[in-house]
Amino acid sequence: MGAPNPFFSLTDAPYIMVENSYDVIVVGAGPAGCTAARVTAAAGYKTLVVDRRKEIGVPIHCGEFLPAPREMRDLLRNSPRAARLVDIPSNLITNRTNRLMLVSPLSNEFYFKLDARVIDRTKFDMHLATKAENAGAEIVLKSAAIERSKSNRLVMRQDGQSVEMTARVVIGADGPSSIISKSLGNHYHNPGRDLCPSLNYVLTEIDCDPQTTEMYFGNTIAPGGYAWIIPKSDDTANVGFGMRRPFGAPEVPLKEYLRRFIKGHPLVFPRTGNSTIVTRVGAIIPVGGPVDRTYSENAVLVGDAAGHVMASNGGGIPTAVAGGEIAGESVVNHLADGVSLSSYEEMWRNEIGKELYTALRILRIADQVMPSDRITDQCMRLAGSRYLKHLIRCRLPVPVDFASKTLVRVLGYLE
Ligand SMILES: Cc1cc2nc3c(=O)[nH]c(=O)nc-3n(C[C@H](O)[C@H](O)[C@H](O)COP(=O)(O)OP(=O)(O)OC[C@H]3O[C@@H](n4cnc5c(N)ncnc54)[C@H](O)[C@@H]3O)c2cc1C
Repeated sequence: MGAPNPFFSLTDAPYIMVENSYDVIVVGAGPAGCTAARVTAAAGYKTLVVDRRKEIGVPIHCGEFLPAPREMRDLLRNSPRAARLVDIPSNLITNRTNRLMLVSPLSNEFYFKLDARVIDRTKFDMHLATKAENAGAEIVLKSAAIERSKSNRLVMRQDGQSVEMTARVVIGADGPSSIISKSLGNHYHNPGRDLCPSLNYVLTEIDCDPQTTEMYFGNTIAPGGYAWIIPKSDDTANVGFGMRRPFGAPEVPLKEYLRRFIKGHPLVFPRTGNSTIVTRVGAIIPVGGPVDRTYSENAVLVGDAAGHVMASNGGGIPTAVAGGEIAGESVVNHLADGVSLSSYEEMWRNEIGKELYTALRILRIADQVMPSDRITDQCMRLAGSRYLKHLIRCRLPVPVDFASKTLVRVLGYLE
């Protein structure tokens, strides 16, 4: 047993005893990590979750948009668990939306039906953490993993002190800058293209339709990405954007793009004139697709750390919880029966791989048109709501070769 640890646990106990050796250590108490920890702890494996944050889910790095279970069955068709995992208690839901509006750079509007929930992300993360803790996992906050060796010796930083721990399996759920992913040899091949810096403000006194989620494209407001208005009610919304640096002007700060969107967009400014910013948060969305190695002989990566984000829309919660549960099950099979952790990669590829890779293809195709607002606008008008609704759902409505050839023809025609 180690010394009494003053670092907070979810139960608010003033002291918890942190031992130094675990079956499973999960680094990162976000949706992916807590879901994985719930599974390994429920199977009886001594599981520790560590997170560098002071509070679970704070600050909120999220637009809080979560497709409804019915939508999820259509979105991640090979993963029946995804619909179950997003079927959350109503006290975690602040609003329900039923349609999406896409706005082209030249302000053409496209609408289609999409049922979604706007969640309270802090409560959602706390809910998943509580489930992990109820299953038997220990959760320790204010603890940053700073190093992992191949033999799973983890060095943690707690209040300026180094603590060493070991685990039979480490689950890297530590987000887009994952040190566990780096310890498996991964790196971003093209960080400018694959990492999407983003900002989200909560705005009050904004005039918004509580049933419509809005996505705006264009180089003045979100080069290489899009800006969003996700309504929490009829006068409060998450307003934010994600962009990629090589698509924008290097000298323009992120907040200037968001200011232009809120104060300068012709469809937005008339509705935000009296608005007040309640909170501001910035973070990275990894949109480069799954990382090269999502497992080793004694570690797996989940959620953003694994690159499990739908690159064409930036959504990562559904894939984090689905991948987290798959990882938990694979780790249990490994510890119980010696099944190789390669089974994790097989399982996530089978269940969510098709959509993750299709979304990446869609983004790569979009990358060819996004540098020009005029061409993006023309392509969106050619696609219309009929095709855009598939692209947003990570589906190419035509074979990829056909899409690429058509795009080349369209670009040639438009040049
Ligand atoms: C601005 C923004 C808006 C978004 N909007 C949406 C949306 O509307 N819908 C959607 O589906 N997705 C959205 N996403 C993406 C979504 O938030 C992520 O995909 C999702 O949170 C991934 O979950 P995760 O558990 O993998 O990682 P995270 O939720 O990022 O959790 C990782 C955890 O690891 C901890 N951690 C990191 N490093 C260490 C370390 N060294 N030691 C200990 N702990 C560590 C962090 O503190 C954090 O708690 C958005 C992302 C951003 C940035």
